[in-house]
Amino acid sequence: AVQIKPLVAGNWKMNGLKAALGEFSKLCEHASADLAAATDLMICPPATLLGAMAASAQETAISVGGQDCHMAEKGAHTGDISAEMLADSGAVAVIVGHSERRADHGETDDTVAAKAQAAWRAGLGAIICVGETEAERKAGKAIEVVSGQLAGSVPVGATADNTVIAYEPVWAIGTGLTPTAEDVREMHESIRKTLAARFKEHGEGMRILYGGSVKPANAAELLAVPNVNGALVGGASLKADDFLGIAAAY
Ligand code: PEP
Repeated sequence: AVQIKPLVAGNWKMNGLKAALGEFSKLCEHASADLAAATDLMICPPATLLGAMAASAQETAISVGGQDCHMAEKGAHTGDISAEMLADSGAVAVIVGHSERRADHGETDDTVAAKAQAAWRAGLGAIICVGETEAERKAGKAIEVVSGQLAGSVPVGATADNTVIAYEPVWAIGTGLTPTAEDVREMHESIRKTLAARFKEHGEGMRILYGGSVKPANAAELLAVPNVNGALVGGASLKADDFLGIAAAY
């Protein structure tokens, strides 16, 4: 099988004032070379903190990313931030299509695909999120829904270097609930097959993260599942110790 270096990425969502930069510095200090050799580590803070964090993360094992971007490079889009602006602030990647963006801002698969292309245009990696709702899982449609999201949200041109897929069941985000290891195994295998069929060796090598209520206590079990190449972590990424505890599960 292809060797894939895992990625543990933290999504701070709309959390963090300047006072939180201390917690971030602690994370940078404590992220050892050994840990970083085994696992790529990234924090995606609110855009207001991106520049400061990128500066304090220099020459450490931590990289920083954005949580969303506009699809255009610049222009009359009040309040929006382009991928180029994120890159200019020190981001190396951007999350696109998070379920909170899909739900709160009506983002469709087409929107998400355009944002992924915007990320690549700016030289950023795209972390493309997919995942079924509780109703869809109960109806036995989880695999079908996620396959459809992959087809619509992952553009032509995705490679193992420019794209990461994050499988985040909507009902597991911020709820403390997680799928069983068997459900995660089945979904990640299906995602791998879909990616490999479409992107060949790039699909074989693309990282597929699991996200949804990952904590230090459940990270080892979830991250041991085949085709789980890391985690996208919300709540538990706000504390340096929790984030490092998850990353150490590899
Ligand atoms: C997320 O929002 O990407 C997420 C996985 O959140 P949490 O870890 O808090 O469930």
